[in-house]
Amino acid sequence: MIYQNPVFIPGPTNIPEVVRKASDMPTLDHRSSAFADILHPARDGVKAVLKSADAEVFLFPSTGTGGWETAISNTLSAGDTVLAARNGMFSHRWIDMCQRHGLNVEIIETPWGDAIPVEKFADALAADTSHKIKAVLATHNETATGVKSDIAGVRAAMDASNHPALLMVDGVSSIGSMDFRMDEWGVDVAVTGSQKGFMLPAGLAIVGVGPKALAAMATATLPRTFFDLKDMRTGYAANGFPYTPPVGLLNGLKLTSQMLLDEGLENVFARHHRIAEGVRAAVQGWGMSVCANQPEAYSDTVTAIRTPEGFDATALVTHAADTYQMAFGVGLGEVAGKVFRIGHLGVLSDAQALSGIATAEMAMVDLGLPIQFGSGVAAAQAVYAAGNKSAKMAAE
Ligand SMILES: *Cc1c(COP(=O)(O)O)cnc(C)c1O
Repeated sequence: MIYQNPVFIPGPTNIPEVVRKASDMPTLDHRSSAFADILHPARDGVKAVLKSADAEVFLFPSTGTGGWETAISNTLSAGDTVLAARNGMFSHRWIDMCQRHGLNVEIIETPWGDAIPVEKFADALAADTSHKIKAVLATHNETATGVKSDIAGVRAAMDASNHPALLMVDGVSSIGSMDFRMDEWGVDVAVTGSQKGFMLPAGLAIVGVGPKALAAMATATLPRTFFDLKDMRTGYAANGFPYTPPVGLLNGLKLTSQMLLDEGLENVFARHHRIAEGVRAAVQGWGMSVCANQPEAYSDTVTAIRTPEGFDATALVTHAADTYQMAFGVGLGEVAGKVFRIGHLGVLSDAQALSGIATAEMAMVDLGLPIQFGSGVAAAQAVYAAGNKSAKMAAE
């Protein structure tokens, strides 16, 4: 096994060497001031990445899924109605979690490959004159299909009928990689994890909670213990956790949030966009298409690529792993076997992206797809060369 190749799964993402070092530290007393110097900068860094002045940031030893549970259990009560679109595996799982918590989910079934149908949300909200809907759930970036949704549009749909529901956003595969504006978009709860845009190992749920959602804690009766925001808040006020914190990961988050801010969030987003454009050019060069149905829904963090009818896309992923020691993402749920995914988020350069594109190309040729060597690579090279030329000119 070769461990030098970057991974092209859409999380967990590649971990920069400096981050590995920052996360690997001797035990320190998590009740000492040394821990406060990790905890508070990490929370402040995340808050800046979320572009929020008002939100409180909560960090749990968990993953993005625990972030979903934090969002719903602290703000809702059994029997409450929430509105959500199901357009991929991750939105499906969040809906499933809500149902298991005794929430009534008004589901807008949406073709996999489509973005959240904002007009249908607007209609559902306008029809809800008694304000039964307590929360609107939106998956910003459907990682299963490589589909980005318009969160500002969802907020506008809510505002159009003056709907008081909370807006909860799954930003697990967008925050820290794609444009995300918690305050400007009126996001009440933003959820992510450590192992995607934040370039860390899995192990943290990262949750931004706005004032309106914090106020909802007072009346929300869903059971919560481990994910109780009130307990966590009390812990933070005393520079600690209500239980043992994962100190190394938090130290890593202190570093990676600062790395993103130092690179400049707009530069981070532009880099992801350029890399994604190269991948999409390669897909076109191969004569294939992406799973996302509308260009405005193209994700800058993951591309799901439809393989020809009768071809097993999962076998391609297995072949690339076994033959070239390179990891791509399999299709999930409804698109299992029909797509493979190239994850391109986190720490990634144009050159690394080219290695992934070239390897995917080899694996497809190996398995008999009618693709010319270099067809995808050349298309991506053109994008990256042009992108870097214009960046250099802008800097001069
Ligand atoms: C990865 C992912 C999740 C799940 O996060 P875990 O950290 O695996 O619990 C949820 N939503 C989206 C959009 C994701 O990409």
